Amino acid sequence: MPDFVIPSPPTITVPVTTGGLFPVRRIFCVGRNYAAHARELGNDEREPPFFFTKPADAVVTSGADTPYPPATQNLHHEMELVVAIAEGGANIPVESALTKIFGYAAGLDLTRRDLQDEAKSMRRPWDMSKAFDASAPIGAIAPATTIGHPAAGAITLRVNGQRRQHGDLADQIWPVPEIIAALSRLVHLAPGDLIFTGTPEGVGPLNPGDLAEGEIAGIGTITTKIV
Ligand code: MN
Repeated sequence: MPDFVIPSPPTITVPVTTGGLFPVRRIFCVGRNYAAHARELGNDEREPPFFFTKPADAVVTSGADTPYPPATQNLHHEMELVVAIAEGGANIPVESALTKIFGYAAGLDLTRRDLQDEAKSMRRPWDMSKAFDASAPIGAIAPATTIGHPAAGAITLRVNGQRRQHGDLADQIWPVPEIIAALSRLVHLAPGDLIFTGTPEGVGPLNPGDLAEGEIAGIGTITTKIV
């Protein structure tokens, strides 16, 4: 046993639909990644994707409650496709990016929108608006060996049974292979990394007592109650 001077932090894990646990190393998130309306095909003027992070221990597994965070009056849901990385690398080409993926899940990029608005206006970092405790609820990870690599499919979030967000993975400005290629030019990706890939339209507030139920066709679900 190593001679740790304080208790060693636990390994954060997410269940896999076919059994076993995926150990989480880091959580990366893409900024805006769905056009509000159909984009022109072949548009070379897309702004490069930008990224922020959450700590691994922000994970809340599906079915568990999510505590309403402190220091906000405006907690928002962002329903997202999450990519789980099995094999790392830097400068990964778009053409081989899918081979680095273990699987996919449905997740929520919870956001303290009031703190984010303040950070934007004051040109300060987003960390405290995005990377707070329990800010990353995520459903079970479906292995790509089972479901393939879905590039299209409905992505939906219901709150207390009412539809709040709805889109299609095909409407992502930056598809998953391009996200992996871009992110791997900034950091050396590693096994255990999760990537939240951006949210479609319809973000809005969550309050204590709300039940959030997200689904991505062909991939999975995320369910959490805000308490
Ligand atoms: Mn997001």
